Amino acid sequence: MSSTEHLVRVALPRSGDQLYTYRVPDELAPPEPGSRVLVPFGRNRRVGWVVEKGSHDDLRDVQVRDLTLVLDASSGLSGPLLELARFVSDYYLCPLGDVLKSMQPGGPRETVHVLLEDEGREVDPAGLPKGQAAVLEVLHAAPRQSLEGLRRRLGRRDLMSSLRALQVSGWLRLDESLQESTRAKTRLAFVATDGDAEPGGRSPLRASLLGLLREEPRRPWTVAELATHARKSEGSVRPAVQALEKLGLCERTEREERRRPGILAPGEDQAGPKLELSSEQADAVAQAEALIAADDFGVLLIEGVTGAGKTEVYLRAIETTLRAGRRALYLVPEIAITPLLLRRLRARFGERTAILHSGLSPGERRDERERLLQGEVDLVVGARSAVFAPVPELGLIVVDEEHESSYKQDSQPRYHGRDIAIMRGRFESAPVLLGSATPSLESYRHALEGRYGLARMTSRPAGSQTATVEIVDLRAELREDPLKGPISKRLREAMDETLAAGRQVMILLNRRGWADFCICRECGEVEQCEHCAVSLTVHLRSGMLRCHYCDAHRSIPEKCRSCAGEFIQHVGEGTEQLEAALKAQLPDVVIARLDRDVARRRGAAEKVLAEFEAGRSQVLLGTQMIAKGHDFAGVTLVGVLQADRSLWLPDFRAAERTFQLLTQVAGRAGRRQEPGRVVVQSLTPDHPALKLAAAQDYGPFYEAEALGRERLGYPPFAHLVALLVSSEIPEKASDHARELASRLRHRVLEHARVLGPAPAPLPKLRDRHRFQVLVKTSRRLALQAHLREVMGELRLPTGVQVDVDVDPQSLL
Ligand code: ADP
Ligand code: ZN
Repeated sequence: MSSTEHLVRVALPRSGDQLYTYRVPDELAPPEPGSRVLVPFGRNRRVGWVVEKGSHDDLRDVQVRDLTLVLDASSGLSGPLLELARFVSDYYLCPLGDVLKSMQPGGPRETVHVLLEDEGREVDPAGLPKGQAAVLEVLHAAPRQSLEGLRRRLGRRDLMSSLRALQVSGWLRLDESLQESTRAKTRLAFVATDGDAEPGGRSPLRASLLGLLREEPRRPWTVAELATHARKSEGSVRPAVQALEKLGLCERTEREERRRPGILAPGEDQAGPKLELSSEQADAVAQAEALIAADDFGVLLIEGVTGAGKTEVYLRAIETTLRAGRRALYLVPEIAITPLLLRRLRARFGERTAILHSGLSPGERRDERERLLQGEVDLVVGARSAVFAPVPELGLIVVDEEHESSYKQDSQPRYHGRDIAIMRGRFESAPVLLGSATPSLESYRHALEGRYGLARMTSRPAGSQTATVEIVDLRAELREDPLKGPISKRLREAMDETLAAGRQVMILLNRRGWADFCICRECGEVEQCEHCAVSLTVHLRSGMLRCHYCDAHRSIPEKCRSCAGEFIQHVGEGTEQLEAALKAQLPDVVIARLDRDVARRRGAAEKVLAEFEAGRSQVLLGTQMIAKGHDFAGVTLVGVLQADRSLWLPDFRAAERTFQLLTQVAGRAGRRQEPGRVVVQSLTPDHPALKLAAAQDYGPFYEAEALGRERLGYPPFAHLVALLVSSEIPEKASDHARELASRLRHRVLEHARVLGPAPAPLPKLRDRHRFQVLVKTSRRLALQAHLREVMGELRLPTGVQVDVDVDPQSLL
């Protein structure tokens, strides 16, 4: 071993906690941590990330292989982001390789393409080693080759070192994407050739086109651009520019185009008037600006009633950040339901805004990332995963609706976007703004105890009051008249008044589909999912019974599958049924529905919201998707059906979730001058969470809820880790759950309580039987260390899986 040898340690996805050591071949400079590399692994090649330099101790007893290629030195995952990845890996007990993979999603498949960098460059075969010349010859025939293809064609052992040498000397470039769509998208364009010959003939169009092309001699112009600038149709410009090409005055080339997410279609920007800040807003902005000026980590929680104008506070803080030459990251719970916000941001911050979320096509995602890395973007808006966006010079992170459970990822790594935002702020020395009308108990407690700043906003600047909330006791109505539809008399009257006044109505029913389940009235058989221990939801329009957990479906039976009985009853209405009922009752009113079924089609959610916003529909009904963040001027009435449905879930956050949902949806009513009203239908009208939500007063809710949590040892007064042991064979799952629990009990005796194992609230999902072990502790770090040890000791047979959820948001 020579002492000049360079080694790197690489994290690979799907390979556990271990890091793998590789030697850097002589012709390459050692790649920096964060670089993506292709490495040999067994008999295959895999893509991984360099996370640190290796040391010669690594060489002692393993045979170290050469890394194959460096895919990109600037994957954007260096410095603070790599540090963040390590944190996520430690905190959530998820292998580093898997964390890195999820930080750069939609990314590399293991197929690498080799591209000729400059097709025009002449090869002088004599000047190059034979191996390299052979590669170039193949590439000149077809400038894009898969690595595998090259190996098949050339089949030589030193192929990789030839490729590396050619890469270093700038002959070729690597592109690791498999799908066509993730390549850079190119478009035909024309560029002026050197010289100043005249076009000849008498075509003024040709002359003016040539003038354009020569104005910026190296710029490629598309036909569309030429047409716009020359104020002519593309149809007339195309032959003219082709004529110039024939004359040798310009030539064809390709230009790289950036795909832009469709949601940001230009021309729809809405700047709105510049607002005069209310005194509460001004105070919040001042607190945020103080943090930004300090140029260091700090958290400010903005607790502001719905409609308090929190968005404007974020925007001012972002402006301040950009003026200081830094960049900002703005997280929202769900992108699909925030088209208005996106337009506003675009109007305010222009083209230098990027949007990142899981709904982007791979090509769009690639291009948005590319813009970030090239520094073409000052503001990134996105859902949960955008917290990992490679933003250089990050100066501010905003987390809107910080209490939202959609910030929690429900697969590995099970991170919480808000918590990661705070950690990222720490690593990047950047301030973090959290905002909500109904903060999580965790954040609020930090604020009360002084770890976070707190800005309160108690009134609405637009001049409106928060809506009045009335709880309708459904039991009383049902006693009077048991045979009625989903809408109570009280709510129906309010709807009629509202619609007659030309205003709009929103109705929340947090259950999609036609009915909760169907039951045979003769034998009592309920249709259940074969893979999950849940009943199937009836979807009448598609004629299907559907599992809301695994999406398994079958057609709605005409007869009972168990007794062939013909009377099958659909129980518990969902949004589909509500829509049908309302359409029958109000034939002259345009009624729209928004839920996950509607939103399945790309762009459909945006469309429903835009139509409602524009007043083309009068009633919008839907699940929690309609409850959040929207700012519709015309809505003065909100109805809530089955308000108690989430109260009785076996989850310690049930009351908090119900309070949040009701407060949020109530906040959609009366956001302008006219007062809003909310009618809540419930069978348990006296439940404290309903009453406190009706008062829309967070403080008293926090007091009451915190008391209970503290007594029972739940967050934010203790840390929870939920371990889920699952297997297709029930005994295997329960045996290993017992073993896990007993090992844990042994280890963590003095600082934690281990509960279970018990069958999980959903005891079977996707054919797997599930047992839950719950750990509560006041000492998180100690617990995580012990957990890691215990997980390392477990010898799990194939098919048995342990899923660790640190800080679970739901225990279902
Ligand atoms: P929040 O996010 O706090 O629920 P929004 O930011 O959506 O509230 O603001 C609610 C409404 O109030 C929006 O229509 C917004 O344009 C308006 N608004 C915000 N700030 C002001 C202000 N200073 N003066 C007048 N209207 C305002
Ligand atoms: Zn299922």
